[in-house]
Amino acid sequence: MDQLPVFLDLRDRLVLLVGGGEVAARKAQLLLSAGARLRVVAPQLCSELRQLCERSGTELINARFEPAHLAAAMLAVAATDDPQVNQAVSAAGRAANVWVNAVDDASASSCYLPAIVDRSPVIIAVGTKGASPTLARRVRAQLESLLPHRLGKLALLAGRMRGLVRRALADQAQRRKFWDQFFDSALATSILAGAIEQEAADAEFSAELAAATAASVASAAAPAARGAVWLIGAGPGDPDLLTLRAQQLLQQCDVVLYDRLVPQAVLERVRRDAERVFVGKRPGEHRTTQARINELLQGYAARGLRVARLKGGDPLVFGRGGEEIAALVSAGVPVLVVPGVTAAFGAAAASAIPLTHRGLAQSVCFVTAMGEAAASLDWRALAAPLQTVVFYMGVSQLPRIVERLLQHGAPPARAAAVIERATQPGQRVVAGELQDIVARVTAAGVAAPALLMVGDVTRFAGLAAGTTAKPAAGSVYTTHTPES
Ligand code: SAH
Repeated sequence: MDQLPVFLDLRDRLVLLVGGGEVAARKAQLLLSAGARLRVVAPQLCSELRQLCERSGTELINARFEPAHLAAAMLAVAATDDPQVNQAVSAAGRAANVWVNAVDDASASSCYLPAIVDRSPVIIAVGTKGASPTLARRVRAQLESLLPHRLGKLALLAGRMRGLVRRALADQAQRRKFWDQFFDSALATSILAGAIEQEAADAEFSAELAAATAASVASAAAPAARGAVWLIGAGPGDPDLLTLRAQQLLQQCDVVLYDRLVPQAVLERVRRDAERVFVGKRPGEHRTTQARINELLQGYAARGLRVARLKGGDPLVFGRGGEEIAALVSAGVPVLVVPGVTAAFGAAAASAIPLTHRGLAQSVCFVTAMGEAAASLDWRALAAPLQTVVFYMGVSQLPRIVERLLQHGAPPARAAAVIERATQPGQRVVAGELQDIVARVTAAGVAAPALLMVGDVTRFAGLAAGTTAKPAAGSVYTTHTPES
């Protein structure tokens, strides 16, 4: 490392900006947002920069650059497309001991403006010493997706509470331990998820600090951390369809409870040393009962652990998420819900079937036709035209569903498609009509998980699957097979 990254306090400091084009305008915006006072030197200004200067009351010099323009500046930015001007600024800066950044010209620069991830007051600067601004931007993009949007809120709370913590915990090692526990805590997660107001967060923080202080006085033992359960949607299978928050929380949890629909590729995104607990049904075994799952969730949370309850698709769509929430809330366990891409959305996207389409479908309906509940559905409404009905189902239910739709007035030629393992390796789409979909699905040997979409929008199936012609209704084809 032959450069030192530093954060400059530019408030009310004079910065010279040489150049009048759009690049200069962007730099002006950046410098103004950092509180700098600007002096802009350029023979001509683009309208964007002119407006910016007028609005901010910036000093404007309509001329070519001269060394005298550096007077009283601590930093100069050369943003012209003329290398000679940039070199002149560079030379004058060196002579006057002023830092110079020449945009896109490393040889004329004594300092570089980094790519910035701004979660103020947390600011991350990425530099490549001018070697590749594009690479710096890509690193920045990766950091953007890794870091919670509200990281700054967490830092602000820590800033507000720092004095309080210092007074409460005299020992530095204890303070550090307390802060580490706080940043790992359910409270910190709630702040990052925007699930708690500032006042309530401050109050809860104070309570945790009081508990930590009491514990340190009594026995120097760690205070009992408060556990929490995060109900996280795992999406339809492709791990890249996890939300950013799901990924962040899966990296923080102590234990994860998952069921059959959660594929290995998603589990691989879970923190390595988190305990993994399978609570689904294995062939030949009994399903873990819902009551037992609720009990497990409560038990782990009571031990102060951060529990990820990972469910296929979205946790609140046919996922019994409501039952888990009710049980946890009544046991006093904090719950945070993170949505996931539900199977219907995954299947629609992966087969390029629009769920609504002008003239074909004005509404979408998600139904489960599993078990006894099927009898109580309003089949006449489900058989009506101009809609898309998505059946989450066991594949064995398919003949009964189709039979009922036909009995209740759906035409045999209504289009339908079954999507198997949507977004997963080996995804298949079987397209047809109500009158032949059962035979086609049987012939193709479709297995779980699969869902049925009924509606004329399913004639879109395959249009975007890389085939040159629209496949005939009834075709079976494979689309998008990640990692296969
Ligand atoms: N909570 C889940 C649904 C659970 S019900 C969600 O939001 O997606 C289980 C049913 O979802 C399965 O029987 C199947 O019909 C459907 N399903 C789940 N994942 C699927 C996938 N990758 N492809 C097709 N159907 C899927």
